[in-house]
Amino acid sequence: MSELPVYGIELNERIKTFDCPHCGKKSMTVWGFVSRNNAAHAIYYAGLMTGHDQASARLTISIGGWGVENVDEDNVESRRWLFVEAHRQATGTK
Ligand SMILES: [Zn+2]
Repeated sequence: MSELPVYGIELNERIKTFDCPHCGKKSMTVWGFVSRNNAAHAIYYAGLMTGHDQASARLTISIGGWGVENVDEDNVESRRWLFVEAHRQATGTK
């Protein structure tokens, strides 16, 4: 068995605020690299719908096509996309 790969997330200041296209409330988006054994492995995008009654976080992770040899920029099929949407759960304190 080989060693487990080490994953890391690059935290950065690439935060943008934007108005929600649906209701115009403030939302935030941040993106950065996910590294695997210190090599760029994936990109993540996180959107935070902050100004909403129903706050939610949307995560998009693009895996593959980074840090590989012979990268074909048009070969997007080699990338895998992961979408996660998280909603704050009702806690019953309302
Ligand atoms: Zn909205």
